[in-house]
Amino acid sequence: MSAYDVVVIGAGAAGLTAGALLAKEGKRVLIVERDTFLGGRAAELPDEDFKINLGGHLVEDGGSGLTKVFEHVGKELVHGEVSAEMPVWDDQAGRWGSIRDRYAGSKSELKKVIAAIKETPYEAFDAWDDRTLREWLAQYTTDQGVYDLFEFTSVLECVVDNWWDHSASDNLYVRKMHYEERHMAAYSFWPGQGWDGMWQDLADAFTEHGGTFRLGTSVERVIIENGEVKGIAVARQPKVIPTEVFEEEIIEAPAVISTLPVWNVLRVVPEHQLPDWYAQTIRFLAQDRFRVSWLGLYLATEEPVAVNNRKELATWLNTPTTEGAGFMFEQSAMDPSSAPPGVYLYVMGASVPGERGRDQQYLRTMFERFEEGARAMWPGFAKTVWRRRHLAFDPAFGVVQKPYLVGSYRPHWRVPTIEGLWFASETFKSRGVGTDRAARAALTVVEEYLGRRLSTFGDGWRY
Ligand SMILES: Cc1cc2nc3c(=O)[nH]c(=O)nc-3n(C[C@H](O)[C@H](O)[C@H](O)COP(=O)(O)OP(=O)(O)OC[C@H]3O[C@@H](n4cnc5c(N)ncnc54)[C@H](O)[C@@H]3O)c2cc1C
Repeated sequence: MSAYDVVVIGAGAAGLTAGALLAKEGKRVLIVERDTFLGGRAAELPDEDFKINLGGHLVEDGGSGLTKVFEHVGKELVHGEVSAEMPVWDDQAGRWGSIRDRYAGSKSELKKVIAAIKETPYEAFDAWDDRTLREWLAQYTTDQGVYDLFEFTSVLECVVDNWWDHSASDNLYVRKMHYEERHMAAYSFWPGQGWDGMWQDLADAFTEHGGTFRLGTSVERVIIENGEVKGIAVARQPKVIPTEVFEEEIIEAPAVISTLPVWNVLRVVPEHQLPDWYAQTIRFLAQDRFRVSWLGLYLATEEPVAVNNRKELATWLNTPTTEGAGFMFEQSAMDPSSAPPGVYLYVMGASVPGERGRDQQYLRTMFERFEEGARAMWPGFAKTVWRRRHLAFDPAFGVVQKPYLVGSYRPHWRVPTIEGLWFASETFKSRGVGTDRAARAALTVVEEYLGRRLSTFGDGWRY
């Protein structure tokens, strides 16, 4: 008999969720992670006297996703406070305004649309995978102000600028969830225990229920024989000569849950074992044109630079020097331990679409211009005491959420021809935003693996 019932590949939001849920159900689970740290694309790491996030900034869960996962495994995901103020940069006037005065659609028209969102069952949005958010809204209103408000929220969530690039279904799932669970269009929070603390809590839940980790271990391939998963192969460690190949250690297991995104899953899952149409869907979604890279910038000052208050989330559609949406907030106001005392740490970013994320010269210029724009929007950044630039080429919000790229157009979490292989990733069939989406994808896979629903999560939608 194998030592494990399930091997989970990856210790990001999806892998930790899958591992913690399965271990709680008494399954013998091994999580294998290439890096030596937890959290994957949403890891938080120490850098000199600061803490830097590779990806995650704010969690978008009204309560029914990642928060419930914590509850179910005996932990608490603390919802830190974020100010309701949202300064929006007015690039025409060259000054800060507010989301409230900028998107002044008719209140009664807005109410009508909110009522329609609440009345529509989640599943009914599935029919809108191939259409735009505006087409859905147009059934209820012609008010441009209402369109602007919904589309602005979607720009912030999925970082595409054109109205025709916002899929109706993916965006409406999130809107409905937030209106129902939090009575607002968009709800987000900083995890009270910090991003590192959040992943550590989930990892603790996993090990407290008997789960085993292998960090710093890269899975080379999933072993599949006669249509059945047999386990995984990992590279021998440490390698004596760096060019060593095919000296593998085999770990047997009848089930493997891969949490690898579409960009690298086929390095590990043998493509020839998958039906051609399935593998081609993965390859299609993994194209550079469906990526949005993130130019991440951390700046620290000795004086606060906020427009209204330290916990505000400031946003823009264009900076004075760059095109494209982004946001900025003071990380040290959310988590004072992320900067030394008396120092204010600000996190912000600019998005770069498609292939441009590979162009080093372009990216270098973009960073220079973006920093110039930041100094124009917040003059206090003229006196920074610390800076860190980083580039996330594996994108912020997965595959862009455009029509024809969401919902039923994504590969399913289960390959019909292979017994015991599951894909839990926000880049496969899933709904939601970021880490919460990844956690929901993992929950869906775990429940399907178990063959039953976990009652904590109710009867509602999952993936
Ligand atoms: C710049 C940026 C900003 C973001 N902002 C937010 C935000 O504010 N809020 C939010 O909720 N989300 C945000 N996200 C998105 C969020 O980070 C992702 O949606 C989420 O982390 C995806 O989790 P995952 O577990 O599906 O995938 P991943 O985190 O990618 O996990 C996959 C794991 O597999 C590991 N792995 C890869 N190959 C192998 C191998 N061969 N063997 C073993 N392990 C392997 C990786 O190291 C990784 O840990 C942001 C992302 C980025 C990049």
